[in-house]
Amino acid sequence: MALQAAMSATTPTEDTPFDVQTDTAGAIETDAVIVGAGPVGLFQVFELGLLEIKSHVIDSLKEIGGQCIELYPDKPIYDIPAVPVCTGKELTDNLLKQIEPFGATFHLGQEVSIVQKLADGRFFVETGKGTRFLTKTIFIAAGVGSFQPRLLKVPDIERFLGTQLFYRVRDPLQFHGRNLVIAGGGDSALDWALDLVGKAESVVLVHRRDGFRAAPASVARMKDLCDRLKMQFLVGQITGFDEAAGRMSEVRVTSLDGLTRRVPLDALLVFFGLSPKLGPIADWGLDLERKQIVVDTEKFETNVPGIFAVGDINLYPGKKKLILSGFHEAALASFGATRYVFPDRKIHLQYTTTSPKLHKILGVESPAFD
Ligand SMILES: Cc1cc2nc3c(=O)[nH]c(=O)nc-3n(C[C@H](O)[C@H](O)[C@H](O)COP(=O)(O)OP(=O)(O)OC[C@H]3O[C@@H](n4cnc5c(N)ncnc54)[C@H](O)[C@@H]3O)c2cc1C
Repeated sequence: MALQAAMSATTPTEDTPFDVQTDTAGAIETDAVIVGAGPVGLFQVFELGLLEIKSHVIDSLKEIGGQCIELYPDKPIYDIPAVPVCTGKELTDNLLKQIEPFGATFHLGQEVSIVQKLADGRFFVETGKGTRFLTKTIFIAAGVGSFQPRLLKVPDIERFLGTQLFYRVRDPLQFHGRNLVIAGGGDSALDWALDLVGKAESVVLVHRRDGFRAAPASVARMKDLCDRLKMQFLVGQITGFDEAAGRMSEVRVTSLDGLTRRVPLDALLVFFGLSPKLGPIADWGLDLERKQIVVDTEKFETNVPGIFAVGDINLYPGKKKLILSGFHEAALASFGATRYVFPDRKIHLQYTTTSPKLHKILGVESPAFD
């Protein structure tokens, strides 16, 4: 339901001082709900924590880390301030360590589907799994939305999903000693093909054309391995499959000239990229532009007071989709939230180096300063 609609439906009257349509029974009460456990959502926990604002974090994925974990866990990042180099996984692990003192609760594998403003100024938030929250503020750190892998369009093939058909690799060991067909022409397809050559029984890469979106060095390495008969590359599209004893026994690869080959396999790994879906966020009554949430640059607040948007999901003049920009946004959004969480408190900026109050919050010893 759109937030605007929910707001008008919940306008208090003498008879109904609170929203009577929203069943809030059993909802978790909190200061802040963060939608998205990518790097920016994680740092949002930290910045809110320093201001003594408690948060719950929700992510539709089962793993924490957003794009850093989903798209490039082992790739080096070079532009995190004061961290010369770290991988996507290392960044996520370090952020998790940094937010430990704040004891945020994570609700993973559930998408936030409903956001409604209540008559008492708080928000009602519900996930697809039915977890409910009553919160004073919301921080949307949903990146590019929920990740949905682009699917292989072959009739009936989806019934092998998770047994022989895979759109992401959770456990590379399961492919060792197997005959693999890997479909795609981007970094993920090439990276996994190169990683599994020599460990799998055989690797056949299938891409619709002899041109790649992947790093040139990976393409050169793949071609060299093909020349040395360590793997195979076929130009064509997967157009069908054959089955034996309930298992996919081979796929049919059709080339541009219409010739179809049969390629035997144990597993088919498809990397056609992830298509970002804004999903339910589009229905929350927030001002959107080009599928991004419009915010101010003072507090990174949306058109709905109390709802903030940080990281890749937001839009403002000069926006750059970088992790460090998201970190800055998270800091200012936290200060912006204090007027809803502590309306009577004056909030002062304090340094983590010198503030005994922050040391207490962080659970560290206060150093002696001369
Ligand atoms: C290959 C690659 C390399 C990159 N390299 C760099 C780099 O070197 N330096 C750099 O600064 N940036 C880099 N980036 C960009 C960087 O990864 C993003 O800027 C960053 O991940 C944004 O973080 P975020 O927390 O805003 O969003 P994300 O990382 O996208 O996380 C958002 C999370 O929100 C969740 N979500 C979405 N909708 C919902 C919903 N309705 N309910 C619940 N959960 C939801 C998603 O599942 C996701 O986990 C790179 C990106 C890619 C793809």
